[in-house]
Amino acid sequence: MRLLLTNDDGVHAEGLRALVRALAEVGEVLVIAPERQQSATGHAITLHKPLRLEPVHMDGTVAAYASNGTPADCVILASLGDLPQPDMVVSGINAGANLGEEVLYSGTVSAAMEGALQGIPSLSVSVCAYNAVIYEAAAGFVARLVGAVSECWPLPPDTFFNINVPNVPIADLKPPRLTRLGRRKYSNVLNKREDPRGRPYYWFSGSPIESDCGEGTDIQAVQEGHISITPVHFDLTGDLGHDQLPGFMSGLEKMDFCGGK
Ligand code: MN
Repeated sequence: MRLLLTNDDGVHAEGLRALVRALAEVGEVLVIAPERQQSATGHAITLHKPLRLEPVHMDGTVAAYASNGTPADCVILASLGDLPQPDMVVSGINAGANLGEEVLYSGTVSAAMEGALQGIPSLSVSVCAYNAVIYEAAAGFVARLVGAVSECWPLPPDTFFNINVPNVPIADLKPPRLTRLGRRKYSNVLNKREDPRGRPYYWFSGSPIESDCGEGTDIQAVQEGHISITPVHFDLTGDLGHDQLPGFMSGLEKMDFCGGK
């Protein structure tokens, strides 16, 4: 089995190395990862500059490249380029959780989404901590999961697994739970400061506010020490649009946008 590994923390990130070590036991590992930090770049792709792949040395891989593109670019380069088509995409291991609406901003998650859109079974993996991150437990779990689903991928088309692992030693990790996305907004603090030349600059900060961490959510699972596995699909269509807004739609029809047609 050919495994494409990528991430958004950059090709030199410790979480990627831990994943390579664990997955080298399971299949042929190809790494294509951003040359530098690309966290929170979402599903951006590069259209207005050339993309490059620079070989890097990484033990346990059949080949490893640093790309000047985004995480989604890395997956597209692997699936459309002249490299062998991967059988599975594994993105991570990210330093920091990707829970609730964080999946929309995350480069880690978007790489797995791109894999799913290319028709390749895909996973994104994050550990819920930024400091003193324990990657080995998550890496070991992913290696076993990849082995288990390699023969029979359990998800429908265009759907991938987003996995979050509590930052605890293996012995303290509780069994995986199948979850739905919770809600995890940020307090959205905008810091305004002054640079040495007296010009203002801005820096987003803030801490997460969990507005839905109820039963069945990814947030609740990791808070209770479980590995969270959420099936994610790209379809963002709102549930309310079609049958609950008839008045709105008949009003639009009366506006005669199309010259009476
Ligand atoms: Mn990241």
